[in-house]
Amino acid sequence: MSRPSPDHHPATKPSGRPRLSIPGSGLAKGLAVTLRTMTRKSVTEQYPDALPELPPRTRGVIGLFEENCTVCMLCARECPDWCIYIDSHKETVPPAAPGGRERSRNVLDRFAIDFSLCMYCGICIEVCPFDALFWSPEFEYAETDIRELTHERDKLREWMWTVPAPPALDPSAEEPKEIAAARKTAEKLAAAQAAQAAQAAPQEPQEPQEGES
Ligand code: SF4
Ligand code: SF4
Repeated sequence: MSRPSPDHHPATKPSGRPRLSIPGSGLAKGLAVTLRTMTRKSVTEQYPDALPELPPRTRGVIGLFEENCTVCMLCARECPDWCIYIDSHKETVPPAAPGGRERSRNVLDRFAIDFSLCMYCGICIEVCPFDALFWSPEFEYAETDIRELTHERDKLREWMWTVPAPPALDPSAEEPKEIAAARKTAEKLAAAQAAQAAQAAPQEPQEPQEGES
């Protein structure tokens, strides 16, 4: 049942007698509402002349960072709308070292999302174990043909350029493990290169000691 508005006055009093109304009181109330509204700040957005200021976590469209995708199919399996289409094939990779075993890996042939079916739940982004899917705040991709709302991998990659940078870490936060691992590898490489350069440098002739002939 809907609740009566505070300005609503029934025509009769609770006792059942008719309520007296002052002539012109309705007009005065209407003018009071108009005056009150006139002094308030307008919230109208002048879109499309002025773009709206969107919150940083706006769910506009999904971007695909293809290099991170291992074709594990988790996003397609978990999507409640079944609107992610992935095709792939297997390739044999030669062994990394002589005597090693050949390995097989999945190669992506097609990755598409049908945004006419997507309900922007974000499950695909949450479940992706390899950080290959991201939210972009872009929302201007309306089409007159519904088939155009299926964005193929090239289009999904283009959306990646519109994904905002992640917020800065808290100053006292732990270093992310990916950055720590990359830094350690870079330090090891630099140390190995410095050692190689020291070995390759020509030895300087030693000064003869006093008393030596
Ligand atoms: S946001 Fe939800 S509905 Fe849209 S593709 Fe991802 S999992 Fe599917
Ligand atoms: S869950 Fe991530 S890695 Fe797996 S197929 Fe989807 S986008 Fe690729």
